[in-house]
Amino acid sequence: MRRGREVIPNVSESLRLSFHGAAGTVTGSRHLVHAGKTRVLLDAGLFQGLKKLRLKNWESPGFEPSMVHHMLLSHTHIDHVGYLPRLVKLGLDAPVYCTPAAYELAELMLLDSAKIQEEDARHANRKGYSKHHPALPLYTAADARRALELRRVLRYNQWLDLEPETKLRARFLNSGHLLGSAFIEMRMELGGREICLVFSGDIGRHDMPLHLDPRPLPKCDVLIIESTYGTKLHPTTPIIDQIRVPFKETLDQGGTILIPAFAVGRSQQITLVLRRLMKTGQLPEVPIHIDSPMAFKATRIYSRFLDPRNIDADVYEDGRLKLFPENVRLHRTTAESMELNKLSGPRILISSSGMLSGGRVLHHLKRLAPDPRNMVMLVGYQAEGTRGRAIAEGRDTVKVHGQHIKLRCRNVQIHGLSGHADRQGLLDWVASAPEPPKIAFMVHGRPDRAEALGAALQEQARRAQHSMQTFVPEFGQEFDVSALLDG
Ligand SMILES: [Zn+2]
Repeated sequence: MRRGREVIPNVSESLRLSFHGAAGTVTGSRHLVHAGKTRVLLDAGLFQGLKKLRLKNWESPGFEPSMVHHMLLSHTHIDHVGYLPRLVKLGLDAPVYCTPAAYELAELMLLDSAKIQEEDARHANRKGYSKHHPALPLYTAADARRALELRRVLRYNQWLDLEPETKLRARFLNSGHLLGSAFIEMRMELGGREICLVFSGDIGRHDMPLHLDPRPLPKCDVLIIESTYGTKLHPTTPIIDQIRVPFKETLDQGGTILIPAFAVGRSQQITLVLRRLMKTGQLPEVPIHIDSPMAFKATRIYSRFLDPRNIDADVYEDGRLKLFPENVRLHRTTAESMELNKLSGPRILISSSGMLSGGRVLHHLKRLAPDPRNMVMLVGYQAEGTRGRAIAEGRDTVKVHGQHIKLRCRNVQIHGLSGHADRQGLLDWVASAPEPPKIAFMVHGRPDRAEALGAALQEQARRAQHSMQTFVPEFGQEFDVSALLDG
């Protein structure tokens, strides 16, 4: 890997890139394109996870937010959009372009994120552990609403003119990762040549329930690519083979299955998978309850924006484009959630959060975990220190709301529903372009995974008789891309 050259300031005819997050880490996606005199921000993600990273959200972003002319948003996961209200607080006043579904989901995600920020500040004040007195939220619901006012809709495949002098334009192409998710293609004329830059956002997988396959990569000079699974391959065991036996046994003995799941995307995906298995007789027909106000709202957005091409005919059921018309109940209000306490017998209950770090799922865990007839089904990765991890490790008890809850229920952890392309998926996506990019920047991955993906991309390009320069940018690093293209 080569390091970036020294940047010559005030070059109005050059393309430069600077990286302000998701550089050597998987969260905080923020990249700034300096196309001549125009500055375009790609994503405004929140740093998440370890405290060291979360504290970065309080630091200067490393650029002047008021100097950004346009922002393009790849999708609405918090590590891509959750920093936007903070940036607006710091002076960002630029149109934020996103797809129509992302427009709707952004409201849901940012208002929820603001609520969490406000709760964290209140919690810090109660416990007195903040350095600041009183502890302030990173942003409030009012800040989130101001950020949401900057949204502008840009449909998939439609070119948007950003700057006439350099013919700077951009469009969104479906990345198949989340409803409304996109990768971003930018074209411009700088220093007497046309340059095409693509930012991958997060790349999804093929043949996933609910989402279309990622569109092929167009021919481009410069690629900024995520590397979340730069060294990993997803397991290929079908979901049904992972769950058939434990599900059938639990339901046959009258038990309830609790599935902790993220409210947006994941809850809908799991429900869809389970409905299909029931309709095809692979699982017994039992009621499915989705207990989460956010999942309720997200399901409505999914139902409205779902592309008919990404669902099978059986989802139509009653002939309408509605996700779950049959045997699925959505519980929005607290009263509707409480009703579930009275219901017993074979049924499936889906509730957030996905790693049991908070939310309504904890009430259900308290009620269901001590009974050996019941089961908790964990979906995907469970971070260290979470209750999800404790259950996956087969501990005897878990602490919920100050009480030690006995874990006598069965548990099963399923894999294979990740929304990210794995190493091979990323390589195949890059290979879907008519020819390899000349330069690739690996972001949104641990440094070892980013480096490994870069090496694999170089090797793939070499086999196609092309050369590719690859870089793993560091936090705050800036590159003179025009000079690299000359080099
Ligand atoms: Zn994502």
